[in-house]
Amino acid sequence: MTNKRFHLVSLGCAKNTVDSESMAQLLQREGYAPSLVADSAEVLIVNTCGFIGPAKEESYQALSDLAANKRSDQWLIAAGCLSQRYGAEVIERVPGVDALLGTRRWMDVLQLIDKLRRRTSPEPLYHLPDEAITVGTDEHDVLRISKQGYSAYLKIADGCRRPCAFCAIPLIKGTLVSRPMHSILAEARALQAAGVREINLIAQDITDWGHELGVKDGLATLLEALVHEAPQVDWIRILYNFPGSVTDRQIETMAAHKQLIPYLDMPLQHAHPATLKRMRRPANMDWVHRTLAKMRSNLPGLALRSTFIVGYPGETEEEFQTLMDFIEEIRFDRVGVFTFSFEPGTSSEPLGDPVPEEVKEERKGRLMELQQRISLENNQALVGQTIDVLIEGTGEVEGSDEPIAVGRSYRDAPEIDGLVFVEGGAPVGEIIPVRITGAMPYDLSGVVETSRNVITLEGLEIRD
Ligand code: SF4
Repeated sequence: MTNKRFHLVSLGCAKNTVDSESMAQLLQREGYAPSLVADSAEVLIVNTCGFIGPAKEESYQALSDLAANKRSDQWLIAAGCLSQRYGAEVIERVPGVDALLGTRRWMDVLQLIDKLRRRTSPEPLYHLPDEAITVGTDEHDVLRISKQGYSAYLKIADGCRRPCAFCAIPLIKGTLVSRPMHSILAEARALQAAGVREINLIAQDITDWGHELGVKDGLATLLEALVHEAPQVDWIRILYNFPGSVTDRQIETMAAHKQLIPYLDMPLQHAHPATLKRMRRPANMDWVHRTLAKMRSNLPGLALRSTFIVGYPGETEEEFQTLMDFIEEIRFDRVGVFTFSFEPGTSSEPLGDPVPEEVKEERKGRLMELQQRISLENNQALVGQTIDVLIEGTGEVEGSDEPIAVGRSYRDAPEIDGLVFVEGGAPVGEIIPVRITGAMPYDLSGVVETSRNVITLEGLEIRD
């Protein structure tokens, strides 16, 4: 009697989370039940990340832990980016793995399990086709979303055609493949019908959506269609904008629709033109300054997020100081900092990894310290202001039975940004105006705004 249960561990980015949930949909449709406990499942799957050093090690650890406790009537599948990028090396590192499933063919998970069932020798199976990635609902009629409570990720494309020297994504996922607009709109309608209040649009490079479909100003075109098709979804957030590709029409479209919240995530990676050129990244810092200024003047309450790499080959103290000065000048609301990870196979490989680890860590520390001060000052400037907050949980203040709620404002993307603590509590799933009473480096606290005719931070009026 087969025990049709699966245990799936999802690692890496939100795009991988969506792939994991799509695999789970296929398995459940085939009668497999999800199991939170590996021991009671027949099929063990780790949807791995193969992007940079620490993430790869986390994936190997997850595989090793499952392999160490695996019974003879269980199968361990290493799915995702680590398998796609390293193939047999994964099995050399973790001999208990029974099969590899590449990130480009996550939708073949059932066929692979079938092959494992009919397998006559203990030899591991390899399913690593490297044809272009397929991201669409089209092929398997599964939703390309990941929903947590009243918030959801919606994947609009995958793969990337950019030449960034440090990045392995194009090696792993292949070039850009945009999902058809009709599929994306159908899922936005489905999420609206499911009562979702926030949709986070994701891709490797969201600003490139529609490029290979020949859609002019693709993202702006898609956003206009989305607000038309899902008018009840309160917040539509745009993550992973590529510098140099945020157009005037995108800014105008965001300014015209309050659903398109004033939040911009644009990974810049550095600010010194020489470093950016070595990274093979857009190095036109005038464009960056002009575009950020344009967005700040057209989008009241704009929250800016960016990501930076320190310790890239050849980074001098002078180049790093340019980055520090840039951070001080722009005063981002949210900043992610990574140390350079040497990635064989990328076009930065010939540059090696000359910046010592301790120098990388020291620079990361200085940059984080600077940003923490800026983030606290930005948060302190919000005290007394009213801001909309999506309530995601409730509880009590430690040591008292005073109710408290926790949520995120439009300034906080899920999992990567801050939280807002609402004294007195509030209903989960509601978006409520909160008057900010306290500021911490990354989080805020406040109370439910009861007075009326108040203008919220993002310029919305609270009426009776
Ligand atoms: S745009 Fe992003 S995903 Fe694409 S190559 Fe550059 S860093 Fe990698």
